[in-house]
This record gives sequence, structure tokens and C-alpha cells, in this order.
Amino acid sequence: MKKFYLTTTLPYVNAEPHIGHALEFVQADAIARYFRKKLGKENVFFNVGTDEHGQKIWDKAQEAGIDVQEFVDRNAQKFKDYCKLFLVEYDNFYKTSDKEHVIAVHKFWNECKKRGDIYKKRYVGKYCVGCERYVTEKDLVDGKCPDHGKAPEERDEENYFFSLSKYKDELLKWFDSNPDVLKPVQKHGELRKIIEEIEDISISRLKKNLSWGIEVPDDPEQVIYVWFDALANYVSAVGYGTDEKKVDEWWPGVQIFGPDNLRFQAVIWQGMLISAGLAHSKKLLEHGMILASDGRKMAKTLENVISPFDQEKKYGAEIVRFYLLTGISTFADSAYKEDELVNMYNARLANNYGNLLNRVIHLANSKEVEINDEESVEKDFREKVLKYKEEIEKLYDEYEIALAGERIDELADWGNKYITEKEPWSKDVKIEDSGKILNNLSYLLKTVTDLYFPIIPVSTEKALEALEKREKIILFNKI
Ligand SMILES: [Zn+2]
Repeated sequence: MKKFYLTTTLPYVNAEPHIGHALEFVQADAIARYFRKKLGKENVFFNVGTDEHGQKIWDKAQEAGIDVQEFVDRNAQKFKDYCKLFLVEYDNFYKTSDKEHVIAVHKFWNECKKRGDIYKKRYVGKYCVGCERYVTEKDLVDGKCPDHGKAPEERDEENYFFSLSKYKDELLKWFDSNPDVLKPVQKHGELRKIIEEIEDISISRLKKNLSWGIEVPDDPEQVIYVWFDALANYVSAVGYGTDEKKVDEWWPGVQIFGPDNLRFQAVIWQGMLISAGLAHSKKLLEHGMILASDGRKMAKTLENVISPFDQEKKYGAEIVRFYLLTGISTFADSAYKEDELVNMYNARLANNYGNLLNRVIHLANSKEVEINDEESVEKDFREKVLKYKEEIEKLYDEYEIALAGERIDELADWGNKYITEKEPWSKDVKIEDSGKILNNLSYLLKTVTDLYFPIIPVSTEKALEALEKREKIILFNKI
């Protein structure tokens, strides 16, 4: 049995969780839930976590006047609570300030060094602490970093560099021979361009300038650059540095990340993997960005920021999940529109799926006929449902969650059309025919319920129970 390993990126713990984090977490959770059903729970490993080193975090802890470890633990807890709030069931929560992580990062560093890919070089330049990187004149607007509104600091340091450019041809070859590795296809041109423009990257900082990080092996004056440190989590979460057998079992994995992360996930990390003698990631899934309802980027100054906490309070976690997964495009930027959330919920869950569920249970009880007898489902009907099921599972296999959701809705809609056409409530329909019709529909509902499970896990469990016990239930009140 093939193992399936899935990981999100690790959010940087210097700020509160936002709606974009919710999108990434629930997408990953839906994928993990689907594959747990398909492959068995023991064959799926779903990793999330927090990225906890770096100057920004150190500064924030200083500002708050608390110990930095306490600061990161406290903020990591917020992300754990956040996952719980949105019903995200991970198998592992990774913290880059954990002791085991240091072992893995050191091993990774030493492997790259053994390959001759790490060298020391003096670097003079402008450094933006907000970006945690050196910037060039072309990155600046009026002498300031446009993202952080601050002038960069002048730095003159001797740092370690990683020979990423050495792997340019190999990375191009890998990508050209495995273009399917990256979704969506619209990003392929961008990735190719990033690989073509590849340069060696600085992977350490002077400890006196950046004390909160992992020391470079055998050089206590230097700490490892926060990105190099954090990226190693993808393999150390499955045993790298501590349990090599486990790494063989689970790696390569599927990585899900946001649009600002392509360079790190698809280029830098892939170069690091070659250097350390590890296989490339199995799949790279770049989700879109959630835009404000006006279609613009969310920004405090524009007063258009959507609070995931407010949304949860207003609609409940499952409805927000439902909208994030099926209303928001899986792989493209899309605007978060509350009226769309309401319409979609009412149309798909309340009026379509929920309504059919109520009608079938109610009619089966009033007609006193058997349902949930899979063996007796009529052949044509079963085949039609199975055809839908196959198509929807194929979409899930390809991580197309929003498209899968759309197709599930079509299956439920077909069920509603079938019941309207067959009129099992009519006195003109023989009781055994009513039984057949309703039994067919109970099979369809069971299928719809199973297929909706990765998206709305709590409601579908209730639906399944109601169907089995033939209990009247209003799962989806109209809003
Ligand atoms: Zn900056």
C-alpha cells in the first residue's frame, strides 16, 4: 500500500492567523480526509506547524517583553486552536524550535556541505529585516522596502552560501520531464523563469545580528538562515535526522503552499533536496490568494480585511469551510464574497442535498418501505451514480476540490430531478415501486454524503446516521 504524505507550509508566528491560512489548512485537511478514506488512516500523514526562528520573531518577543521561546509557544498554540476551530485534523504539528528539528537541520546542512555545495563569502549590501533578506536597489521604492516601509540596513557580513545555481540544469530537466509536478499549469511559465534566473543564495547570518536561530555546525558565530532551517521540516517531519526508515516510507510528499512561495518550494527547496541526496517532492500545489470582496488585495489601510474569526462566529466552521473549498477557486486567486457564500450554501446544501435527504427519509417512513439496501438498487440507477462517483474521485485524486464539490452538487441535483419525475409520494405509484425509487435515492444520498465528507465532515456524519436510522433531521437551515 502506497503511503501518502501531505504538508502545508509553516506559517511564520509573528502575526495572527488570517483567512489565507484557513484556506491552506482546510484544503490540506480535505485532501488528507479523502486519502485517509481511500488508502486507510495508517497510510496518510498530514503535517502542519509553525516557523519560529528569525529576527522579526526575536524583535516581537522583545517588544512584548517575554522570553522568545514562550512567545513562539504561545503563538504556535494560536495556530493549533485555529486548526481546531476549522476542523483541521492534522497528524503532526511541527515546531521549528523543537530540539529534534535542530538535529535534522544540522544533518541537512552537513549533507549539502559534503557535496561541496556550501561555501563562505563576504557580502556587502542592504538588508531588510522585514523580508529577512538582502535587497537590491530595484526592490526599493524611494529607498524603502515597499512591503515594510522601512529603509534597509547596511550590512557587511561574511556568510555561508548555497550553490543553488549549480543545479540549474538539473532543475530544468526535472521540471521539463515532470511538468505535472506543479499545479496549476498557469504557473509553469513563472517557475521556468525562476529556475532560469537562479543564483546562489545566502544561507546564514552573523549570530550577533540574528541570535534567534539554529547555529551553523562547527561555526558558533553564524546562525542558519530561517528559510533553510524551516524548509528542512518537510523531511524531518517524517523522520529525517532521527528515523531514516520512516523517511523512506513517507518521502516524497505532496506540498501545498500559497502564491508567494513558489520560489522557495519549487526551486530553492528542490535544489536543497538534490544536494542532500533526497528525491524531489511528489507534487507541488499552489493555491490562490483570497482577495477582498471588491477583488482587491486585502489590506488594513483599505479596511477590506476579512476576519476568519468573525466569519466562523457568523456562519459556523463548516459553512466557512464549505465556501473556502467549493466557492473559492482551488488554484486561482478569488474574491471572498459573503453573499456568494450564503447563496451557495442555500442552493447546494440547504435546497439541494439537505432537501433530498429530508424528503427521502420522510417518504420512506410514511410509505413504510425499506431503504439503504444497496444490493437492491436498480442497475441503471447504480451505474449512473457510480459514473458520477468515479468522476468526482478522479477530481479529488487530482486535488481539484472545488470542481469535485461542483460535481457532487450535480449528483444531488440529479437525485432531486429523479424524485420529482418519479413521484414516489403519488397514490398512482405502486408501493413496491415507491420502495424501489426511495431505495435508489438512499444509495445516491449515501454516495453524496461520502463524497462530501472531506469538505463538511461533521454534517456528513450526522447525515449518514440520520439516513441509517431513518431519523428526520434538518441539517442545513437556510440562511
Ligand atoms: Zn522588506
